[in-house]
Amino acid sequence: MNPVGGEDATRLLRELREIYSKTTRHEDSILGSMTTTPNPLAIYAFTIFSHTNLADLELFSSLKDMYKDVLDLAGRIYGSNLGYVTAGATESNLIALYVAREIHGGNNNIVVAPDTVHFSVEKACRFLGCRLVKIPVGNKPLDPGLLVKYVREYSPFAIVVTAGTTELGLVDPIKEVAEMASTNNVYLHVDAAYGGLIIPFLHERGLVKENVYFYKGVSSIAVDFHKFAGAPPPAGLILFSNEDYLNASCFEYSYTISGKICGVLGTRPGGSLAGIWAVLRGMGLDYLRDKALWAFNVARELFSSINSIKGFEAIEPETTIVAFRHKRLPSNVLSDYLAERGLFLYKAPSIGGLRVVVMPHFNKALIGRLLKSLSDISRSTPHA
Ligand SMILES: *Cc1c(COP(=O)(O)O)cnc(C)c1O
Repeated sequence: MNPVGGEDATRLLRELREIYSKTTRHEDSILGSMTTTPNPLAIYAFTIFSHTNLADLELFSSLKDMYKDVLDLAGRIYGSNLGYVTAGATESNLIALYVAREIHGGNNNIVVAPDTVHFSVEKACRFLGCRLVKIPVGNKPLDPGLLVKYVREYSPFAIVVTAGTTELGLVDPIKEVAEMASTNNVYLHVDAAYGGLIIPFLHERGLVKENVYFYKGVSSIAVDFHKFAGAPPPAGLILFSNEDYLNASCFEYSYTISGKICGVLGTRPGGSLAGIWAVLRGMGLDYLRDKALWAFNVARELFSSINSIKGFEAIEPETTIVAFRHKRLPSNVLSDYLAERGLFLYKAPSIGGLRVVVMPHFNKALIGRLLKSLSDISRSTPHA
């Protein structure tokens, strides 16, 4: 059988491989993205379930056991097992704000968040027609006292805080904000897209003060498995504190066997669940803990190495993201120079620099090339 049809399969495969061989690989080039090389077992799991649709678990009922495993493990880490797999935090954040407004909205249309909040929350507000009021926090974790003032002034229907901000990897004071949200009966969503599989392990060792957990007052948590944990994308998870919130995000689909579909997507890859399951069961929490601690140390080493290169200054990392800038060169000059050498970093606009997101695929050679390139820049640039 010709598996492809129209064109000659051998030729097409050759072309595919050629395109593949030119495609950027994490371990050779990527230092600033929140994605990583997926775990091989998770890729296998994703692939063999590629025919399944998570939107209909009655049809693919064997997936239910895997789902239970994943939610039980999530329950052990975060303190709630009520939720479902999503296409990532962009979807999870949109769902959370939808639920918040359905249940806490009334006449109010305002969401309050520190200005370090991820763009996807802004996007969710656009979709929902709500207004995002940003609290200026100057690249620091949110000051709960300041939040109280904003909540008094705006009476928002939801607060969003972040565990692992995009630019600097900061963690907002989740526990304190949760108490305050609970007292004021405001929905609190914790965006732990990046930090959700790092921070609990750092917290356990006393390396960060905050934890990602369903403290009283936390309404929902978003975690991405396609970031640090290395599940093939898309692989997100949204968890809720109670059944009412969960149910508010599900819709009647009377033609399906289960009769309802939750979240934004309709057809949803069963591979996403299988990939998450493979990561949690195949690598396990011990592996994730080791990787998180390793990344924390790599980030600290990178911070001091970059800081010791003349002309550069780095910001001391709170978790696993190291932002830095050159005192004279704008970030686009830096990033073009590095890209020419096959090193890709994202920007840290608030400091006019770039950021390194330490991910499991980092290796000595990759880090060495970055430091060497920065030293070369330093040598060829006159100092202030
Ligand atoms: C990555 C990220 C998102 C967006 O998640 P996707 O999985 O890309 O949709 C949202 N918030 C934070 C804090 C993130 O790190």
